[in-house]
Amino acid sequence: MKDSLPTPFERTFFLTYTQPTVLDSVYTIGLGNNDLKTRSDSNGNRVKFWEAQAAKLYWFEKWHTALDWNPPFARWFVGGKTNASYNALDVTVQKTPNKKAIIWEGEDGKKRELTYQELLSEVSKLANALKSLGVQKGDRVTVYLPMIPELIVALLACARIGVIHTVIFSGFSAKSIKDRVEDSKSKIIITSDGGLRRGNIIKLKDVVDEAIQDLDFVENVIVLEHTKNPITLTKRDKKWHELVGTISSSCDAEILDSTHPLYILYTSGTTGKPKGVLHGTGGYLTHVYSTFQWIFDIKDSDVYFCTADIGWVTGHSYVVYGPLMHGATQIMYEGALDFPTPGRIWEMISRYKVTILYTTPTALRMFMKFGDDLPNSNDLSSLRLLGTVGEPINPQVWKWYFGIIGKGRCPIVDTWWQTETGGALISPVPGLETIPLKPGSATRPVPGVSLSVVDEHGKQVEPDSKGYLVVTNPWPGMLLTLWGDDEKYKTVYWSKYKNMYYPGDYAIQDKDGYIWMLGRADDVLKVAGHRLGTAELESAFVSNKAVAEAAVCGIPHDVKGEAIISFVVLKDGVIPTSQLKEELVNHIKKTIGPIAAPDQLHFVKKLPKTRSGKIMRRLLKAMAKNEQIGDISTLEDEASVNEIKTAFAELKQSLGKF
Ligand code: ATP
Ligand code: MG
Repeated sequence: MKDSLPTPFERTFFLTYTQPTVLDSVYTIGLGNNDLKTRSDSNGNRVKFWEAQAAKLYWFEKWHTALDWNPPFARWFVGGKTNASYNALDVTVQKTPNKKAIIWEGEDGKKRELTYQELLSEVSKLANALKSLGVQKGDRVTVYLPMIPELIVALLACARIGVIHTVIFSGFSAKSIKDRVEDSKSKIIITSDGGLRRGNIIKLKDVVDEAIQDLDFVENVIVLEHTKNPITLTKRDKKWHELVGTISSSCDAEILDSTHPLYILYTSGTTGKPKGVLHGTGGYLTHVYSTFQWIFDIKDSDVYFCTADIGWVTGHSYVVYGPLMHGATQIMYEGALDFPTPGRIWEMISRYKVTILYTTPTALRMFMKFGDDLPNSNDLSSLRLLGTVGEPINPQVWKWYFGIIGKGRCPIVDTWWQTETGGALISPVPGLETIPLKPGSATRPVPGVSLSVVDEHGKQVEPDSKGYLVVTNPWPGMLLTLWGDDEKYKTVYWSKYKNMYYPGDYAIQDKDGYIWMLGRADDVLKVAGHRLGTAELESAFVSNKAVAEAAVCGIPHDVKGEAIISFVVLKDGVIPTSQLKEELVNHIKKTIGPIAAPDQLHFVKKLPKTRSGKIMRRLLKAMAKNEQIGDISTLEDEASVNEIKTAFAELKQSLGKF
């Protein structure tokens, strides 16, 4: 069958894709002094292994059952009592209260710093304020704030008193907020007068007012003064500063069950309507605590900078809970990373002597598009470790990140995970062991996690063959369920295969056990009997020096099954010509094989992306098939859709029909 044995062209591509740039020498830096020597130590008794990791957190009471696995529902450390806010704050305050927790910079150049002690005091005040408004354990509170320290304060204040936080990315519209607040039935919304983005003030409070005008169950809106633009206060609005003005700055952390829900977070919506992912406390914290240490090999002296917004899971796990549980110092930035100058991010790294940078392939492609002069003219010598998350990283982009940003010194941790998984499941773990890196592969599962690549029937495919990624054992960061919808939880993740979690991603595991993500399973193209992952095709485009970004999708084709339509964004300064089109088609033929030659190639200025920067291929697909484009509430910029619609219209005209 096609999927089990790569055809010659697939094989060729695969080889170029895995071109083993073996980086042993680089990768030996930063070996942690962890008690776990290699990943294989975790292969025996996984539950026991995770118990040993959980023991590193603070527990008011120890659990009696490490894992209650009632497929497909997993409950970790049952009987254990803990608190996320206590682990994130008090644990460090008791040791080093004056350690810097957050170094914040705003787009307009404003700066603030908070120590762990100061953060604890702000968190306790807001927790007391929430209690004074009648908020109780188990209630939901929606947080709609820009990337400012108060966003972290709000989350930890909720966690402190057992309230379930649900963050909505501050770029979302009134409609997106309404849907999510209705779904979670939040009693309280925490927002600010505004947030900064590209020199403009986004009027967050006005958006909230519009969103909740018909939602009577929302009792109060807490409004932080941040940008000082005028706002109108109604009866249910409370000013943050007035609420906390005279309140006590001490608040005991609620003693909570390990299985108590910590938060609801809606997924990016790349493949459909966002799902309300519900995470618990003890298991989630254990996963995040462990992976943060293994992946980032965190040290007391590190200055960590994760560019993800807390509106996404990366921000929850690796801005809020992971770094804080380790007493780390981190940079937090409000605004666009390329504003007011395209080199803003490199200036910040130099200014704060950042040692660890964690960002996304989409951001890297943008930085790369601006050229090498900007990073080259800033001092990036403090960096020691680089990370990426969110999408497959094109090998070409990986090499740029490694060479131009890391100057060939810094290992790259490509971390594969999802909102649902809570923390990384596939990643190099420099805090534990040395392995060669291969550009474009997230390497292997993290300790304690077992994965496989299987065919349609759930049978493991041969190494180097394409298939669907599955997780074969429950892991501590696993979602509890989808909020209020156990049935959907079962259908989405557990109905394709029995007792195996289905993430919906297409992948290859090579002979060395390395995993290569090939894109979303739903987006796989079937061209003349060959299955092609979107990431394979898009990476082939990006490997051409003229191309900054690319997106592909398939449209039905009488003979081939599917024809490949591609949208290409060129690098700054490159002129789109028909000659270049031809050159790119030839480039694809050469890199992958003649069969992968796109039937249509359109130059566009922007690709349709989610607010978290992921290409929304389902939109391309829907447009290609002339279908309704569905929920686009998480789309970044409608202009990109219009541009692609026009491209499709031209295509239709030229073909007469689809
Ligand atoms: P929705 O589930 O609503 O469609 P989403 O899947 O984009 O949205 P997230 O949970 O933010 O929401 O994204 C997880 C997905 O991102 C993964 O399933 C995978 O497709 C992709 N992804 C994340 N990290 C990586 C990575 N390192 N390499 C390849 N793909 C990645
Ligand atoms: Mg998803």
